[in-house]
Amino acid sequence: VLAGRRALVTGSTSGIGLAVARALAQAGAKVMLNGSRVAADAESTRAALAAETGVEIGYTPANLADPASARGLVEATIAAFGGVDILINNAGIQHVAAVDAFPDDTWDQLLAINLSSVFHTTKAALPGMKAQGWGRIVNIASAHGLVASPFKAPYTASKHAVVGFSKAVALEVAEQGITCNALCPGYVRTPLVEKQVVDQAKVHNLPEERVIREVILAAQPTKQFVEAEEVAAYAVFLCSDAAKSVTGSAPLIDGGWTAR
Ligand code: NAD
Repeated sequence: VLAGRRALVTGSTSGIGLAVARALAQAGAKVMLNGSRVAADAESTRAALAAETGVEIGYTPANLADPASARGLVEATIAAFGGVDILINNAGIQHVAAVDAFPDDTWDQLLAINLSSVFHTTKAALPGMKAQGWGRIVNIASAHGLVASPFKAPYTASKHAVVGFSKAVALEVAEQGITCNALCPGYVRTPLVEKQVVDQAKVHNLPEERVIREVILAAQPTKQFVEAEEVAAYAVFLCSDAAKSVTGSAPLIDGGWTAR
């Protein structure tokens, strides 16, 4: 369904981003991978995905906390593929702490990566999408884009902002063949969540399996993690022509979390 499309997925060397990159490639799109560092295994990830899917896969390191690097990542993708049809803003970080104990520099870093990078990549990608009259922007927000949890105020603020940003962009480009949506997953077992399991186990003095069931998955009625592949499949749908009228939305993949 995406044959010939050119995609950029930020933060795609692990977790949800890698699953989305794989699903886009399996659907026929060329994919530019991105991570914050020249990771030793980035080239093997790139080569494995290319071999597995038979499409062109690139890799561009860029620290999205830096606006010029975020813009540069879009420019590098345009240089490699001739344009960007699909932009998946996935890179994100979490830091769990009470507001009055939250480090100032971590607040700045979190907003730079989770929110400002979405502005910078979108700004850089839109002129090409407008010129060709086709584009898909999928921002990986979170259930925390719609509801809140204690000790996650900066993350919750950043994800609510991403949902609002996505709606405004969707309205601006609605007549130009471009859609913009914010996907809102519940808990997905990725390195980002593994770190929370370890941290919460220490805080609550509980074994990790009990932390998963009684702390992390307490919010999720299914009592199961969402699979990264479920998020990826939804992203592929949003990028397809079948989803051309789905714009300005914030679809939930949250195991019933926000139904309460
Ligand atoms: P992850 O830690 O596995 O992946 C995060 C990715 O972002 C990595 O590829 C990392 O390299 C990249 N990244 C981090 N800082 C970066 C920077 N400065 N520059 C460039 N890339 C950077 O985490 P994940 O769980 O896969 O998270 C992906 C997205 O999904 C995030 O936006 C996260 O907020 C969101 N999300 C995750 C969950 C969950 O339960 N895991 C739920 C809802 C939303």
